Amino acid sequence: MDVFKFDYYQRLRKDYLEHNSLFVAYDYDNTVFDYHNQNINYDKIIELLRVCRSLGFTLILFTGNEGEKLDHIKEDLQTRDIPFDLINENPLMPTRKPYYNILLDDRAGLKEAYDNLKKLTDEIRNKEI
Ligand SMILES: [Mg+2]
Repeated sequence: MDVFKFDYYQRLRKDYLEHNSLFVAYDYDNTVFDYHNQNINYDKIIELLRVCRSLGFTLILFTGNEGEKLDHIKEDLQTRDIPFDLINENPLMPTRKPYYNILLDDRAGLKEAYDNLKKLTDEIRNKEI
């Protein structure tokens, strides 16, 4: 099968149905924070992360920021009520790449990932699955 014909939404849905939860990783700069001051509104992403929290999903902040910068990021997330459970940590196994079912990242197909996760959480909340 062609790699682009694979149904990535169905895989996400299957992951959820198997575990009754998901690992959702998300990036900080230009995904929930307007790093380049381009006046981009990230509310849709942030709201979806809150919905994920309400459904009991595990949220992993996946960022290249470290040290003092990371402290500021944690403060900012708390101030803006953006949920996270782990930071750059692997929830399942001791490998360098965190495990996740889906990644929200401005440099990794953000719109498709958002659309798939939004569709799934809408179905769950509407009790369609
Ligand atoms: Mg980014």
